[in-house]
Amino acid sequence: MIRFDRATKRYGGRTVVDAVSLEVRAGHLCVLLGESGSGKSTLMRMVNRMVEPDAGRVMLGGRDVAGVGPEQLRHGIGYVIQSVGLFPHWRVADNIATVPRLLGWETARVSARVDALLELVGLPPEEFRSRYPHELSGGQAQRIGLARALAADPPVLLMDEPFSALDPGIRRGLQTALRRIHGETGKTILFVTHDVEEALLLADELAVMQDGRLVAHGTPAEVLGRDAGPVVRRLFGDATLAFHRLGTLPAASAARPGPADGTPALPPDATLKQALMLMLEQGTDRLALPGGTLHLADILAAA
Ligand code: ADP
Ligand code: MG
Repeated sequence: MIRFDRATKRYGGRTVVDAVSLEVRAGHLCVLLGESGSGKSTLMRMVNRMVEPDAGRVMLGGRDVAGVGPEQLRHGIGYVIQSVGLFPHWRVADNIATVPRLLGWETARVSARVDALLELVGLPPEEFRSRYPHELSGGQAQRIGLARALAADPPVLLMDEPFSALDPGIRRGLQTALRRIHGETGKTILFVTHDVEEALLLADELAVMQDGRLVAHGTPAEVLGRDAGPVVRRLFGDATLAFHRLGTLPAASAARPGPADGTPALPPDATLKQALMLMLEQGTDRLALPGGTLHLADILAAA
């Protein structure tokens, strides 16, 4: 769906995105992870032509974006950033309806879409559609920003550190909502963050950037595997890399088959990290899984 082909950007003689080649498959959520200044936003903005590459190209659904007018291009790409940028004098419904109205949708279709989107982002329509932006909390405003980005049903969403300004609890709620919405809508999402916990929670695939270069790309389990390079080790922390790695592995993968022994039972989709945390909490070294038993020694071996 999105393909960067040796995409390159230079500012004043400095190469800030350096020949990045990366493919994001339709329906995947790809997280671009890297320290501040590593070139994540610049790379992402090449997709909707807010940044034009100096060399290389960006393909969207098989077409070079350079051949599509920026306005037309952006109608097919939702864009969500940290400062939501809602129009302050417009009600929530009008903010969400911006693009559908530009596209000439009929009034009834627009209102139905607004209500469906409010439901999707977890805000009751009758309570929120007539509010003004100053009557929203930060988390609610960010949910409206997401609804607005999804309004014309674009196949692709670009999200640039959208939750970075929110309190941890609110942020976790938005992350969980995004995962659900991604599952329900099947959008292709490119998501920028510098937060490793957020990256691991959201990513189908992780693309790690450093100094304008793509230094690792794959599933979280692949990127955090035993051959993780120095940049990945530094980002995730040498001491905590193994712990993060457990979060990418299903508990069932390390269980010994046979009758379930030990208590309490783990949910079938639990990760080894959740299993280890449950063992610490319960003071036990074995857990029952459907179809087997998980021993502490097996978790240590997997880490
Ligand atoms: P990230 O999103 O990973 O924090 P950015 O893509 O925003 O990084 O920036 C990468 C580098 O490019 C930074 O050093 C930044 O200062 C520089 N940069 C970004 N945009 C511009 C610009 N318009 N002019 C000059 N330098 C820029
Ligand atoms: Mg950025």
